[in-house]
Amino acid sequence: MGQLQHGWRSCPKCQGMYYAGFVPFEGVCPAGGQHSHAKSFAYSMTFDAQQDDKTQGGFASCKKCQGLFFAGFGQNQGVCPAGGAHDSTGSFSYAMLHDVGTPEGTQSEFRSCSKCRGLYFGPFPGVCPAGGAHDPDGSFNYAMHVQSNDPNSLSFDSGLLTVPGALPLDAFVQLLVRSDGSYHVFRHVHISGLDEIEYTLTGLLLMPTGEPSFRFEHQGSINPINDPDEVGVDGRDPRIAAHFDSMPGAKWIGGLGGKSVPEEFISDLIKKALAAAEDAAIKAAEQALVTLAF
Ligand SMILES: [Zn+2]
Ligand SMILES: [Zn+2]
Ligand SMILES: [Zn+2]
Repeated sequence: MGQLQHGWRSCPKCQGMYYAGFVPFEGVCPAGGQHSHAKSFAYSMTFDAQQDDKTQGGFASCKKCQGLFFAGFGQNQGVCPAGGAHDSTGSFSYAMLHDVGTPEGTQSEFRSCSKCRGLYFGPFPGVCPAGGAHDPDGSFNYAMHVQSNDPNSLSFDSGLLTVPGALPLDAFVQLLVRSDGSYHVFRHVHISGLDEIEYTLTGLLLMPTGEPSFRFEHQGSINPINDPDEVGVDGRDPRIAAHFDSMPGAKWIGGLGGKSVPEEFISDLIKKALAAAEDAAIKAAEQALVTLAF
């Protein structure tokens, strides 16, 4: 089904869907000023997906207004609230589910506006950069992936991690953060060999441009008797509350290492994360790294 990109929000002023991963820059809103993510669910977009009769490609984000729009009509790139047509330069190629009802983990009733080509939430007319309200004429009924339907919490999952060098160990690490600064980190570590292994499990919340990133670190040991090692830990840190608004645009990167190489492993993890970050400004985050044990 392609890959998921977090960081999308629906603007309550214009009803448009836009990418909020460059906070504090939130694009240009046709209702005036920048888009706002106040009270919005956090959404994810699929990119590089196979198309089929329920999946339509050809969507892009506009580098001028940050809005999501349908770019598949050749010369007609719609109307941009920042002036002229939308500009898909540098955008991923996004795909949208349509006319599937509302499967688990999605929200439907999004429409593509026939005037500005922007995607907006259909039940509200919003504000169209081409003038007046958006127009759903001829649009499919699109469904968006919901990352979190609670504007005050966000969750992240590392996926399955293994150890470079083939220690018989695997793990995943999940993070839930809330706007009040509280967090819950859940670890699952599993050993498939017979010897006890001391390990370091790290989750790096790589924040968007100019924000401090958060590193959650746990050192433990596992043997066949205490396998699997599964624990949830709660904490609270005011820096999470202070930077919560930017977290929908963050990447969560897990790392697992054996005891012999924790220092190397951690700097290697951060290097990998930075290499994966397209935006050079994200490198600024490395200087402001908050480390929390769990
Ligand atoms: Zn807006
Ligand atoms: Zn635009
Ligand atoms: Zn419109």
